[in-house]
Amino acid sequence: MQSKPAKAYGITSVEQPLKEMTINRRAIGAHDVELEILFCGICHSDLHQIKNDFGGTMFPIVPGHEIVGRVTAVGDHVKAFKPGDLAAVGCIVDSCGHCEYCNDGIEQFCDEGVTFSFNSPDKVSGGHTFGGFSKTYVCNEKYVLHMPEFKDLAAAAPLLCAGITVYSPLKHWGAGPGKKVGILGIGGLGHVAIKIAKAMGAHVTVFTTSPSKVEDAKRLGADEAVLSSDADQMAQYSRKLHFIIDTVSAKHDVNTYLNLLRHDGAVVLVGLPPEPLEISAFGVIVGNRSFAGSNIGGIAETQEMLDFCFRHNITAQSEIIDIQYVNEAFKRLEKGDVKYRFVIDMASLGN
Ligand code: NAP
Ligand code: ZN
Repeated sequence: MQSKPAKAYGITSVEQPLKEMTINRRAIGAHDVELEILFCGICHSDLHQIKNDFGGTMFPIVPGHEIVGRVTAVGDHVKAFKPGDLAAVGCIVDSCGHCEYCNDGIEQFCDEGVTFSFNSPDKVSGGHTFGGFSKTYVCNEKYVLHMPEFKDLAAAAPLLCAGITVYSPLKHWGAGPGKKVGILGIGGLGHVAIKIAKAMGAHVTVFTTSPSKVEDAKRLGADEAVLSSDADQMAQYSRKLHFIIDTVSAKHDVNTYLNLLRHDGAVVLVGLPPEPLEISAFGVIVGNRSFAGSNIGGIAETQEMLDFCFRHNITAQSEIIDIQYVNEAFKRLEKGDVKYRFVIDMASLGN
């Protein structure tokens, strides 16, 4: 079988706007699933990558890793999917499948290098992967998720990255009844984190730099919301929280938040500020606190998260856009002007 051309949106170098282009999707292998993409969320990681914030962006780049679609074709050996099924692809589309990490279901740390859904060397095609700002996706069935029948499928797309990125550390650090959890930064990840932490039974306090989000955070389910520039309010949370999920995308003062932890608490960084963060020794030594990190989640846990969100009726508050609006959307995302996730209706790309 031949590779197939697919319409997509991407860029050929930094500073260029995204524009329509044609990419090749690989031929469907025996274990591959082909999706027609219906919706794709826009994550701040897409923005970091098109700006080459971390270096190493491979051009041309087609972003997009919160992909929901319908199966259009499957390889001869595919058992778990059939044409017509709703399906999804998140951040991970390949890994070795046999190292210690893959065996433990944390494919994102594969010994031989994980393949991400975009901007990642593609061991199968030899090029690099192109993401979900496109008409189709093709990958091995092991990395395709079963998409529950969410009433609002578009609003469920952000779960594929934002959802798993916060679900995994919330579960790992024990969010549940009796736990006081802080959520720092109310963007795409942060607002989903409020909903998931509440559904897990935790008491949720939000810390935001945006006055307009204080009341909104409560509407989203937070028990308490604090404007982080208000020193008096911040002082009231000193030594109160069991752990904090830090979703901030830019350089910020982590020590302020370490000081809000109870003993043995942790600030768990999921945001990816391109610059290094400074940590005061006393911030972690006093109270035996930790500064930790968390990177998305494995495939099995991503499926678990989708099923959890479906049961608890959790989706992202989304602004649905046409693909032609994507450059404006990135500008607004950079300014923090989105409540709380852009999702592209891929029908707007046309055939
Ligand atoms: P987003 O929608 O832009 O949200 C980020 C939030 O951080 C903003 O809404 C804002 O919240 C806060 N913020 C931004 N700049 C700030 C600053 N200078 N100081 C303090 N607060 C600031 O982004 P997102 O899509 O949720 O992604 C968040 C970060 O997580 C990004 O860096 C992204 O690349 C990363 N990420 C990591 C993983 C992982 O596996 N670890 C996965 C996905 C994404 P307030 O207005 O409430 O202050
Ligand atoms: Zn993401």
